[in-house]
Amino acid sequence: MTAGKQHVSDFHVYDTTMRDGAQQEGLNLSVQDKMHIARHLDDLGVGYIEGGWPGSNPKDTEFFALAAKELDLKHATLAAFGATRRADGVAADDELVAALRESGASVVTLVAKSHDRHVELALRTTLAENLAMVRDSVTHLREEGQRVFVDLEHFFDGYRANRDYALEVAATAADAGAEVVILCDTNGGMLPHWVSEIVTDVATTGARLGIHAHNDTGCAVANSMAAVQAGVTHVQGCINGYGERTGNADLITCVANLELKFDMQVLPEGKLAEATRIAHAIAEITNYPPSARQPYTGVSSFAHKAGLHASAIRVDPNLYQHIDPALVGNDMRLLVSEMAGRATIELKGKELGYDLANDAKRLARVTDRVKQMEQDGYTFEAADASFELLLAEEMEGARPSYFDVESWRVLAESARGEEASSEATVKLTAGGVRLAVIGEGNGPVNALDHALRQAIEQVYPDVARFHLIDFRVRILDQGHGTDAITRVLIETTDGKDVWVTVGVGANIIEASWEALVDAFTYGLRKHGVDPRIDH
Ligand SMILES: [Zn+2]
Repeated sequence: MTAGKQHVSDFHVYDTTMRDGAQQEGLNLSVQDKMHIARHLDDLGVGYIEGGWPGSNPKDTEFFALAAKELDLKHATLAAFGATRRADGVAADDELVAALRESGASVVTLVAKSHDRHVELALRTTLAENLAMVRDSVTHLREEGQRVFVDLEHFFDGYRANRDYALEVAATAADAGAEVVILCDTNGGMLPHWVSEIVTDVATTGARLGIHAHNDTGCAVANSMAAVQAGVTHVQGCINGYGERTGNADLITCVANLELKFDMQVLPEGKLAEATRIAHAIAEITNYPPSARQPYTGVSSFAHKAGLHASAIRVDPNLYQHIDPALVGNDMRLLVSEMAGRATIELKGKELGYDLANDAKRLARVTDRVKQMEQDGYTFEAADASFELLLAEEMEGARPSYFDVESWRVLAESARGEEASSEATVKLTAGGVRLAVIGEGNGPVNALDHALRQAIEQVYPDVARFHLIDFRVRILDQGHGTDAITRVLIETTDGKDVWVTVGVGANIIEASWEALVDAFTYGLRKHGVDPRIDH
């Protein structure tokens, strides 16, 4: 697998996150968002970045103007997307074609119809005029010095409805000077073996072919791979599989498959190892939390749970992984759970810098404690930070501590016609000083967070950088007639890293308090802050 990847001369990795990906429900990108995404895509080393449709809306027009001035791309070429000229017009006089010509992009991707019924019903023109629109638009932009790719919308469905016409449109685009003719599964209804058959047939036209697949059958990536196998040398997709309905082909999954399974070098050497970081960075911009189960880049992609696995992983991690996660910049993760045996805890300890291998007694004690706590409602699978504090306590003899809590209290109040508000009082000692602080918030946990934060910030200024980003509550039914208990998971960030802590209690506030204290303690410890506590 490692011995010399096959360099495919000029294979196109074409990203359409900012155009087709932005069609996703709830996804909105500002011009500045697009500038940031373009830089990340360039860092990943994609060949082409489709920036949008200049002329169709002011934001996309503005993006191309700004990109021409400020976007300094190292690898990628910016492509402008747009339609062929209007029916019964002339490309040179067409307003939308002019916007493409004047976009400053050296590549234009024209979308054209290749399905006869779409020509007649959507474009309301003749099949012959549609061919003329393709020929005229491509020829014109080529003459004006731009490279032209042609996206054939609804190609696969069109091929099935009228094969001869679909092939004629593909051949017309190529004859007019389109560098690549991209076959689009616009409705996303294809399966890999159909794609394979159709691409093989279209290849007889001699045109250079590309694939643009949607995921409605769950096969967008598989269809893209089938198309490459059948001869396409241009793959379109979106980061994190963004796109309308069920999304577009996930470009990183496609690229990782091509490099690691097909042995093709399609990104600049070494760039694939940036994939996980970049997929997550773009998710920050789109504000769509990345899926934990995303192939290659998900946080669970290389996570192992069962104790039985873990003991084998200690011998050889590759026994349970399809690739070395480092190849895509991801990490193997061991999940500490009640299913986990000593081997998981030992490996997890090693990950955190503790050697438990030669300390069987301590290892057994930690394992028993984890199992007991999980029975009580804790979960360490998600709450890595709380597990680290537990392990530190076992290894160092005492739980890391930065402040000594005397008491806390929280009140909730609702007056007629007003929103409920909360007030919390926290009393603690930190840095030799006794502090009593009141915090207000829109809810009890928010008020507690404010009070605790204000109190310890006076001694530990680092906490000003900690922000709660997620808060999850689960009511656990313990059965056996006992009362239900509450588990709270809190996700905190310092702007760079993210950590999760857990609390369990008879009520939500008690559980939240425990998770909050862990969140601040873990953050301070991570920042290398010395505890200033006088017991
Ligand atoms: Zn599409």
